[in-house]
Amino acid sequence: MTRADPIQRAIDEDLVRVLYAQDPIAFFSHWFSIAVLVAIYWPNVPSPPLFIACFGFYAAANCGGLALWICNRRYPHLTTPRGWINLHAVRGVLLYSAPGLAVWFAFQSPQTDLPLLHTVMLVTLAAGVFMSNGFDLLNFSTAIPFLLFPAIVLHFGTHTFDRTILAIVLAFFFCAINVYALSYRKLFQQVVQARVDQQYLAESLAAQKRVAEEASLAKTRFFAAASHDLRQPLHAIGLLAASLNDTAATAVQHAKTAQHIVYNVEALNQLFNQVLDLARLESGVTQVIRLHFRLSELFERVGSQYRPQAAAKGLALRIAPSSVVLHDDPVLLERVLSNLLSNAVRYTEEGAIWVGYRRAGRRSGGYIEVRDSGIGIPAAEHERIFEEFYQVANPQRDARQGHGLGLPTVKRLVQMLGGELQLRSAPGRGSVFRFPVQVGDPRGIVASLNEAVAGGPSAQGRRVLCIDDEPSILEGLTSLLERWGCIVRGARDEVDALAALEDGFVPDAVLCDYQLANHRTGAQALSAMRNVLARAGHEGVVTLLITGDMASAELAALALQGIPVLHKPVTPARLRRTLEMLWQQAELDKGRPAAALDLRTGDGGREPDSWAVKA
Ligand code: ADP
Repeated sequence: MTRADPIQRAIDEDLVRVLYAQDPIAFFSHWFSIAVLVAIYWPNVPSPPLFIACFGFYAAANCGGLALWICNRRYPHLTTPRGWINLHAVRGVLLYSAPGLAVWFAFQSPQTDLPLLHTVMLVTLAAGVFMSNGFDLLNFSTAIPFLLFPAIVLHFGTHTFDRTILAIVLAFFFCAINVYALSYRKLFQQVVQARVDQQYLAESLAAQKRVAEEASLAKTRFFAAASHDLRQPLHAIGLLAASLNDTAATAVQHAKTAQHIVYNVEALNQLFNQVLDLARLESGVTQVIRLHFRLSELFERVGSQYRPQAAAKGLALRIAPSSVVLHDDPVLLERVLSNLLSNAVRYTEEGAIWVGYRRAGRRSGGYIEVRDSGIGIPAAEHERIFEEFYQVANPQRDARQGHGLGLPTVKRLVQMLGGELQLRSAPGRGSVFRFPVQVGDPRGIVASLNEAVAGGPSAQGRRVLCIDDEPSILEGLTSLLERWGCIVRGARDEVDALAALEDGFVPDAVLCDYQLANHRTGAQALSAMRNVLARAGHEGVVTLLITGDMASAELAALALQGIPVLHKPVTPARLRRTLEMLWQQAELDKGRPAAALDLRTGDGGREPDSWAVKA
């Protein structure tokens, strides 16, 4: 429905209200008019049968008008507002034709005053029509001519001077009330439009308020659940750490306590990672990096990850063989599949879990499906399970049963990839989660997803310039890169880094911390560096930002520009894979103008993190 439709409807509804509101008064005015006219003509009734027919019709039309008014009051939904307006116009034609045409009787009479008296009566009725029907063109323009035209024509027909003048005055009156009615209608429409606009504004403000309140409530729920789930392991660690001081405890008890501490730290770490993952997705800094890759490799990776867990519960994890090549983000897809598979294993006690690809009627692409024969999810919970920290059955919030962050993360990831997560599930009948994927081109495959991470040839002999104002990080990064066979130059700030370039150090990659000294950002440093390198004819140097920031506007902007950003903590494997991927892409770009790697951002962005290793 367009914005104009509700306004037209509101205008029609208001018109119906004002047109019909006057009708009871009009009913009595017309009886008065009938009485006056009959009284005028009574002493000398012209053409009695015609006179009776005319005034009988007038009285009947007046009663019909009242009946229509009652119908409108009692059964307003009998027809549309437009229908009521049209019916009112018909009532006007019937009602005003009798007094309008009855002026003919006056001209038949020998009494010369009668036409004047009747004309005065008609002008009075016309003024009433102007007041009550002037808002609507149809009602006004159908009633007024019946009232005035016969009188104008008959006065003209007398060919006397004063009657001709009277006819001219009547014609002028007819034109004038039409012009006034026009501006009357405009004003009326403006008033209705202003009212509708105000109502529309109030409704949209109320809707926005509701959304803001819901968001605030959701945030409160989020923090309440997050703080509860974070406090639990922290509390346990505190107690366990205190018991380590217990000198009476045996070495075996200490070892057991230490084991519990490690377990709780791991739980805490896992929760932190989940919360940060979700926050990163929401902040819009995560990039979507589409690659052409074989789906079977992705299935192999997640399959090897979850098969042992499934087998431990006596479940079969069946992966349907597939030769399809996808053009999608393998890192994000792996996170989606991992979450869905871990749920499938967790909520299935017997039977099997099935992962596969189906065309399902899609022309370009298909769906990845994860099915299980588990406990299933009641229909009433199908929406709520996508809320943060919501779990169907974990009232004690036992951390071993998860935290309720998996599906919200999956939902956002699938949305970022341009699809929608679909769910089919019923209690006791298992669950099916599916989401759409895009089909790719086998010629565009950059590298196998399952290549070994360490010791690949691509890092060997590469020159890398590292910029970080924190000496310990710089040192750690340098020694890591050197172990990979890179030739590394470290710089504390932008000036240092530019000096290295001037020295003739031409890097294959520049790694830069985001927050640098002297209020400079890594983005500014990298831009200065790229300018210097470009001037010296070195295009296509790989640059990579590393940041601990979560959601600054600058980072979101960088993500939108497709500038690779890694978020701390960065594991060596993730750094290695990212660099390799960027180098491969840079080489491909040199040899081929069309890039196979589509550094496109979705609603948000994603760091080009390693696909081979989960952080
Ligand atoms: P978590 O699994 O950590 O509790 P999720 O957000 O992944 O959190 O899932 C939310 C809830 O949805 C779970 O608590 C569970 O009740 C339900 N659920 C998710 N996946 C399945 C599944 N495959 N079968 C049955 N229930 C599921």
